[in-house]
Amino acid sequence: MSQKISILLLIVLLFVSCTTPSSEVNIYSGRHYQADEKLFREFTQQTGIKVNLIKADTDQLINRIKMEGSGSPADLLITADAGRLIAAREAGLLQPMESALIDSIVPKTYRDPLGYWTGLTKRARVIVYHQSRINPDDITSYEDLAHERWKGRILVRSSQNHYNQTLMASIIAALGSDKAETWASAVVNNMARSPRGNDRDQVKAIVANEGDIAIVNTYYLGLLLHSPNEAERQVAHEVGIIFPNQDGRGTHINISGIGLTAHSKNKKNAIRLVEFLLGDYAQGILSENNHEYPISMGVEWPEFLKTWGMFIEDTIALDRLSPHLQESMFVFNRAGWQ
Ligand code: FE
Repeated sequence: MSQKISILLLIVLLFVSCTTPSSEVNIYSGRHYQADEKLFREFTQQTGIKVNLIKADTDQLINRIKMEGSGSPADLLITADAGRLIAAREAGLLQPMESALIDSIVPKTYRDPLGYWTGLTKRARVIVYHQSRINPDDITSYEDLAHERWKGRILVRSSQNHYNQTLMASIIAALGSDKAETWASAVVNNMARSPRGNDRDQVKAIVANEGDIAIVNTYYLGLLLHSPNEAERQVAHEVGIIFPNQDGRGTHINISGIGLTAHSKNKKNAIRLVEFLLGDYAQGILSENNHEYPISMGVEWPEFLKTWGMFIEDTIALDRLSPHLQESMFVFNRAGWQ
């Protein structure tokens, strides 16, 4: 082969390799569920697009995307909290997803108004109580937890936890920071012990008689009720669930959600995956396996979630919690919520 031809061939090969879109998508995920991975495998089978997954703590992933800058291989960031997606957008790490499908099936409340992120599933932050020690009619709102009759009886995890921070941001949005602080101080006063453990540990502590009432995300109760461990199932059967603020603003809803990274190199594939995860099939798998509420409109709840009944959701658009997220940390601090 002459030198000219081989150089030409090289140029053609280089051109092809530069213009052929790589058929993959890279996910950084703060969620750790088998159902997610099952869906990623099925997406690959259906589309031929390879899914590369890195799982870690959400704040670590956000820092990693920051440090990697424009060279970041991440296309999508998945978190288990709206507050973290808001923070990622504010740090300039995301870009809008242009998708008529996302706009049409995800309620506005649960996605960024410009498409920087969208919810994937919903979870309610509810009150769980011991069925023989508590009359559920005595607690109908988050505000009721401030009543002195609950002194020494409330179990809740630390203020470092994102679920509590986003809940607090919603309380600040509803009541203002002064009243939110008064509420938080009263809850601290009513705590059965200083905050420790995760949501499931709070439910277990109720049954171990360390306290009577806990603040917990719904799917943790679902996971306990369906646990392969008999003792965990037993724990879940001893407690009841209250959806707070049904006579007012509704129960606080957080999301697991997904954002397209600012420097995504596989944008089309990424949006295609998001659309797949919001489709009826994937929504069904996520809610059936993880006991989360489907976020896409028109998707039926699995039978198990129906047993807890319908409830009124706090309808504040989650992106509007943005100015209150920082403030939530200050409020927790001033209230002495560790
Ligand atoms: Fe969780």
